[in-house]
Amino acid sequence: MSTSPYWSALTASLTPYVPGEQPRIDGLVKLNTNENPFPPSPKVHEAIAAAVGGLARYPDPNSTDFCQAVADYVGLPLDHVFAGNGSDEVLAVVFQALLKHEQPTLMPDITYSFYPVYCRLFDIAYRALPLKDDFSIDLNDYLVPNGGVIFANPNAPTGCPLPLADIEAFLQKQTDSVVVVDEAYVDFGGESASSLVSRYPNLLVIQTLSKSRSLAGLRVGFALGQPPLIDALQRVKNSFNSYPVDHLAIAGATAAIHDVDYFEQTRQAIIATRTRLDDALKARGFEVLPSATNFIFARHPKHDGKALAAGLRAEKVLVRRFDAPRIDQFLRISIGSEADTDILLQALDKVMAA
Ligand code: PMP
Repeated sequence: MSTSPYWSALTASLTPYVPGEQPRIDGLVKLNTNENPFPPSPKVHEAIAAAVGGLARYPDPNSTDFCQAVADYVGLPLDHVFAGNGSDEVLAVVFQALLKHEQPTLMPDITYSFYPVYCRLFDIAYRALPLKDDFSIDLNDYLVPNGGVIFANPNAPTGCPLPLADIEAFLQKQTDSVVVVDEAYVDFGGESASSLVSRYPNLLVIQTLSKSRSLAGLRVGFALGQPPLIDALQRVKNSFNSYPVDHLAIAGATAAIHDVDYFEQTRQAIIATRTRLDDALKARGFEVLPSATNFIFARHPKHDGKALAAGLRAEKVLVRRFDAPRIDQFLRISIGSEADTDILLQALDKVMAA
């Protein structure tokens, strides 16, 4: 990697996040970045086509149509919703607006690997707390003094969900700091904390349209919280005055939230395929963590994870593996179509027999 005398000390100290591979070649079965195997709702196509005529004007800086659609969908007032270009951008604003304090922000030591990247980028102190032996999060560990708490539910890349009752019990005790729950995968079987937002002023829930609405390429995510937290996000975002969600994205994302039937149909199909893959992996001797997401996290007691991932890659099947302590033997396999799953299982049998 290059360096340069023109870099700031901060730039030189950063370890950038390495995203999953986005290959530019066809013919690969892509199960490495938790994208949805279904196309977006046909209503998204129609809405975007209709919105093209409005592109001569700047977009609505507040994404009002989209925020209203989300507000109606989750049953909260409009002033409880904040929109951004993917939940990654929403998270960037959240770290800057709400998680920079003298005490460290607390997070699990196995979680979405972007959180520590943001902490380093924005100079935020943080502490990563180990998961339990079964890879679940113990919220009792998060009651120590802190500058904010963030975790994903269901967690990533483990896929394990925390019951809503545990989160509510935690919020009853943790009233001093902001608690951010990243629900990128919640629609595939988790319990959303959005129902708690009106009762807990320190709770912020973040969701994305990248996974359960098949819109990873459109870049739309949102936060739900009481107005003082949402106002904090607006203050930081508006200081840049440059990141409104674009006009086509607002149109497409609004249509996706409105098309509840399509959402239900596709997410149920993914959950059914996940059950099939879970059974098939267990039948092949894999240990599979309980998943409430659109991916499965599994390891084999007799086959090396790195070799399995490389073998699958040679068979044109991409899965994700993390070079991190405790999880380096696991494969994270996104739930694809039924046909993708057939190809994956055939490839896996070939690799394991070699
Ligand atoms: N949170 C978690 C836990 C994720 O896995 C991801 C996707 N990589 C994101 C947030 C960001 O998703 P997006 O920016 O596409 O909304």
